Amino acid sequence: MLAVLAASSVVSWFWLLLPCFIWLVIAVAGSGLVQSGYHIKTLYKKKGATVKEIAITFDDGPTPETEKVLELLSRYNAKATFFCIGSQIEKYPEVLQKTLNEGHTVGNHTYSHSTKLSLFPVNKTVEDITLTDSFIIKYSNKKPLLFRPPFGVTSPRIAKALRLTGHYVIGWNVRSLDAVTEDETKIFNRIKRGIAPGSIILLHDTSQKTVNVLEQLLLLLQQQGYKAVTVDALLDIPAYEK
Ligand SMILES: [Zn+2]
Repeated sequence: MLAVLAASSVVSWFWLLLPCFIWLVIAVAGSGLVQSGYHIKTLYKKKGATVKEIAITFDDGPTPETEKVLELLSRYNAKATFFCIGSQIEKYPEVLQKTLNEGHTVGNHTYSHSTKLSLFPVNKTVEDITLTDSFIIKYSNKKPLLFRPPFGVTSPRIAKALRLTGHYVIGWNVRSLDAVTEDETKIFNRIKRGIAPGSIILLHDTSQKTVNVLEQLLLLLQQQGYKAVTVDALLDIPAYEK
């Protein structure tokens, strides 16, 4: 009798906990995938695009590698979007200025690029984002409206902060993994598979290997008749406040 009771209570606990477990799985997956738009609307590609336009985006600069990226983009007559970290702008302000002068779009990628951003109180996240805005304003005279969350991670707190700062959240649908692997062929092939009208490609202007891959990518886009444009041009949204 006792055994039956114990067994039935195990079963009822199971049914009681099942919805909690499902919610947890959805919440964890939603937080990790910027594409899912679970906490806040994220723009990660141009839906239904038929024109051969593509947006290449670079995170984590400016760095000395950014200059090599700029040189390649200019050679192939391509435009790109750079999601800059505030603390990097402090180190390389002249690189940021050059990026802006050459007609590329600059977006906000936080000041701290902290792995703990999801845990920051809302006002601390707002401060972090606003500080980076102020650096970009200093060199462009315009408030940037595009934001990319570090590591593509959002949370209810980050979403709340972004509703206060009023940025568009920009994700990607082609992840190159250039921050994970050293294998340039692997990185290039991964991007190649994702090339389609309206795609947004994620790269990092932080290493020579990405510069090497970029040259191959720009050549391929040229051969396939694609035009590399800024994210705002691709999505037809403003990059800066008027
Ligand atoms: Zn980043």
